[in-house]
Amino acid sequence: TYIMAIETSCDETAVAIIENGRIIRSNVVSSQIDTHRLYGGVVPEIASRKHVESITWIIQQALDEAGITTDDLSAIAVTQGPGLVGSLLVGVMAAKTLALALDLPLIGVHHIAGHIYANQLEQELLYPSIALVVSGGHTELVRLTEPGSFEIIGQTRDDAAGEAYDKVGRALHLPYPGGPHIDRLAHEAEHEVTMPRAWLEPDSYDFSFSGLKSAVLNTLNQAQMKGETIDPAAIAKGFQESVIDVLVTKAARAVQEFGASQLLLAGGVAANRGLRTRLAEVCSQLGVPLIVPPLSLCTDNAAMIGAAAQLKWDKQEFVSLDFKADPMLPLETW
Ligand code: ATP
Ligand code: MG
Ligand code: FE
Repeated sequence: TYIMAIETSCDETAVAIIENGRIIRSNVVSSQIDTHRLYGGVVPEIASRKHVESITWIIQQALDEAGITTDDLSAIAVTQGPGLVGSLLVGVMAAKTLALALDLPLIGVHHIAGHIYANQLEQELLYPSIALVVSGGHTELVRLTEPGSFEIIGQTRDDAAGEAYDKVGRALHLPYPGGPHIDRLAHEAEHEVTMPRAWLEPDSYDFSFSGLKSAVLNTLNQAQMKGETIDPAAIAKGFQESVIDVLVTKAARAVQEFGASQLLLAGGVAANRGLRTRLAEVCSQLGVPLIVPPLSLCTDNAAMIGAAAQLKWDKQEFVSLDFKADPMLPLETW
């Protein structure tokens, strides 16, 4: 089975060819980040226009790199949502066009299901599993009882983890996106400005990062008013320690409560070195394997969409040509 997967939910135009759900034959990602960096964040209007400019040649490049032709394809998969509606529409329209012209079945994929199933490209998943999803728009603990069944047991009540990283990055005058820069600064830091942790109710798996973000901003403002200089690395370390402490503690509790066979890490913030290290330590204490996708499969890509699409291919679960992009698509009923 060769599935062509298309991902355009945000600011990466990506097309991949996946063989039998596990083998990456090609994985082309064209990032628009250099353009959006000029504005300090993703500009939706520009994102959709750039997707239109690049989608056709990226589809061709994915076929070329895989060394196959459209005759070899079994199905076309595409991210249906969530994401920016104008961006999603470009991928969905391209996928429908290919499916119609080539007479191939069409598979709709949830973007976060894709982030989670990026792990399947690394290793065959076991069930039940717990996935910690930490990305630019999502922070969720997800329970997987069987392939393709997702139950959100906790989620952020305000900012996503990646969003908090990017906002704090901006406050520290770091380039967009701030996540990787804060990660680096936190490792270089010699001191730490201790920041609060939002644990919420004792039994809650939810997260909150807006109070932490405010604490960082207040610390910076107060130092400025007093004319003091403050080491950005010490702030970065305090912020990162707070984020990691809460994420890792709640993920570990979920693994124990639900008797998970594995902990899966997913989403762009999974690239964070501090988070990976701490999760690995905690998982080895619990005796539960931690699965982490390689860095290139943590941030947005189409290979992960192809991996999730295989679940629907196995059940021959296809969508019709009138299916719609859904910027708010729920994970449970993806
Ligand atoms: P979503 O998947 O929720 O729709 P998205 O696709 O925009 O959001 P991703 O591409 O999965 O998000 O992840 C991007 C986020 O990952 C950014 O917020 C970025 O700052 C963050 N990030 C990337 N590398 C690191 C790192 N090393 N440490 C912390 N955050 C990081
Ligand atoms: Mg992106
Ligand atoms: Fe994403």
